[in-house]
Amino acid sequence: MKPSILNPLSVSLFAIFFFISGNLTAQEIKKDQFETSVGTLDIHHVGHASLYFEIDDKVIHVDPFGKMGDYSKMPKADLILITHAHGDHLDPETIDLISKENTQVILNHTSYDSLKEGKTMGNGDETVFSGFTIKAVPAYNIKHTRDNGEPFHPKGRDNGYVIDFGDTRVYVAGDTENIPEMENLNDVDIAFLPMNLPYTMDAEMCKKAALMVQPRVLFPYHYKMGESDPEKLAQLMQDIAEVEVRFRQ
Ligand code: ZN
Ligand code: ZN
Repeated sequence: MKPSILNPLSVSLFAIFFFISGNLTAQEIKKDQFETSVGTLDIHHVGHASLYFEIDDKVIHVDPFGKMGDYSKMPKADLILITHAHGDHLDPETIDLISKENTQVILNHTSYDSLKEGKTMGNGDETVFSGFTIKAVPAYNIKHTRDNGEPFHPKGRDNGYVIDFGDTRVYVAGDTENIPEMENLNDVDIAFLPMNLPYTMDAEMCKKAALMVQPRVLFPYHYKMGESDPEKLAQLMQDIAEVEVRFRQ
């Protein structure tokens, strides 16, 4: 069953902009709100691959990376999800900063090898946190490799996460290309798909991924001007009315 997500107009009316001091420059964190069967879900777009969810007094950070914002001014985490061990996703200092008593960390195996704490999840593993089902799903490169031929993200190592907030399913893809496993993700309402070369996808690959995932709302993320072409993605997605694309970076 699809949830009653607010229509685009009311969502944009809800968009709230926080101005906080970042480590380097003043930074704004954009926020989107969705109504779910278990309360209002706030999604805060910190930047690059970093974001956090607030719902029912719980705070879930994903890939908190200190260079993306001033985490000392953000709410402490009940749960921290880490997709993989690359420096822009696994930042032990920031994990420390936003942790409090009873903060749980869920991470892939190679991240655990560096951090030495938390609960490891591999592709296909599922758990429940505070009533929210969390599934680790594959995230890997097929096309883009290092000079030695090794993919930036080899198959089976890194995670994306699918989180069910009641009737609302959110997919945070992690660093991945448009992989066939995306076809198996059913009923995704909100998707974060990465877009930067050479590590993840270009605009065309991102569109292919979006067609497989079929979210109601797509947040392209993990992109940088020069490495990505958000305008091209916006154009490519124009004829796909079922997917609303929101650029937040
Ligand atoms: Zn990566
Ligand atoms: Zn990355």
